[in-house]
Amino acid sequence: MLLLIPGPVTTDARVKAAMAQDYAPWDNDFRETYRQVCDSVLRVAQGVAGEHTALALPGCGHFAVEAAIRTFVPPGGRLLAPSTGAYAARLQKLAGDAGRVAVPLFVGATERVDPQAVAAALEQDPTLTHLALVYSETGSGICHDVPELARIAHALGRRVIVDAVSAFGALPLDLSTLPAVDAVVLTANKCLEGLPGAAFVVARVDSLEANRGNAGSWSLDLSDIYQHTLVPNAGPRFTPPAPTLAALAVALDLFWQEGRQARLARYTANMRTLYDGVSELGLTPYLPPALQGPIVVNVHAPDAPTWNLQLFVDALKRRGYVLSNFYNTEPPTFRVGCIGAFGAEQMQLAVDAMGGALRDIGITRERTGAPRFFPQPLIA
Ligand SMILES: *Cc1c(COP(=O)(O)O)cnc(C)c1O
Repeated sequence: MLLLIPGPVTTDARVKAAMAQDYAPWDNDFRETYRQVCDSVLRVAQGVAGEHTALALPGCGHFAVEAAIRTFVPPGGRLLAPSTGAYAARLQKLAGDAGRVAVPLFVGATERVDPQAVAAALEQDPTLTHLALVYSETGSGICHDVPELARIAHALGRRVIVDAVSAFGALPLDLSTLPAVDAVVLTANKCLEGLPGAAFVVARVDSLEANRGNAGSWSLDLSDIYQHTLVPNAGPRFTPPAPTLAALAVALDLFWQEGRQARLARYTANMRTLYDGVSELGLTPYLPPALQGPIVVNVHAPDAPTWNLQLFVDALKRRGYVLSNFYNTEPPTFRVGCIGAFGAEQMQLAVDAMGGALRDIGITRERTGAPRFFPQPLIA
């Protein structure tokens, strides 16, 4: 069974095998694994030792996004949050429910965040102390230019929080060059190709020190989690998802063997195979090639009377591939992940299975046979 949902992703057998034992989270061997995993995540982010730290939290990505907002934006504080899609909307809701004010910035459903619009919004409203961005917006498939937007925020004296959950480990990120970024949020189970249950925030140490006491939640207080890492031979603060972290240690070894750029190239090849493949099936991707990111492709539901997303998902699952059974975009689109431990040959088989699943639910299309032209890689 190949997971194309995307996230959690299909993992390597060696990653799964690491979970097949019990771990004692405060045992010295596990402390070492824990420390190595955090160090490795910090290196993926190109964080600077002493300036940045990678903090682990049990749970999903949303918990860590909330922790970052609570820790770095004071209660009642205001953050500019470009409305890039479903995941930006979630960030806005997390902030609002935590008593912070997320000020939306309109972004067209199939547009990149406009750096000039961000600069203008920040210039107009000096109470906006933070900019919150989704790097790869899973709701559309568009990747936004986080490095450029973070430089703009820096020039205007603002702090930045990045939801990089679906991007981390594939898209470029060099925290050593982005001093405005207080927090980058990620999980084990997307481009790092680990299993679900562990989230991380790579954060600036000076900001963690400066923002003690903001969070209003002991569980989600990154400054407190950071203070805990300073005790000698520090282990996890509360019970961590130890098997998931042990599996992530293996996944990170595989990540370093492959390299970020090769991983991005593999995902990009998966994306193109999928994009061309569904186009040849007569389906229409949600985004034009120039905006299509390498992480997730949304595809317009076929305009056919027998179309039913759940029936399609069920038919495809019988053929060995799992898709999400909900819509994330305003027009109905099904989404397909390009990330996980597989390559373009398997993606081609998945496309063939999609053609079969469409036939299974009574939809036949003429092949257009016209692969789309892709311009230069968007991000390298
Ligand atoms: C997957 C994802 C998250 C986190 O999802 P969880 O289900 O909470 O792990 C957050 N942001 C983006 C952009 C994502 O793709």
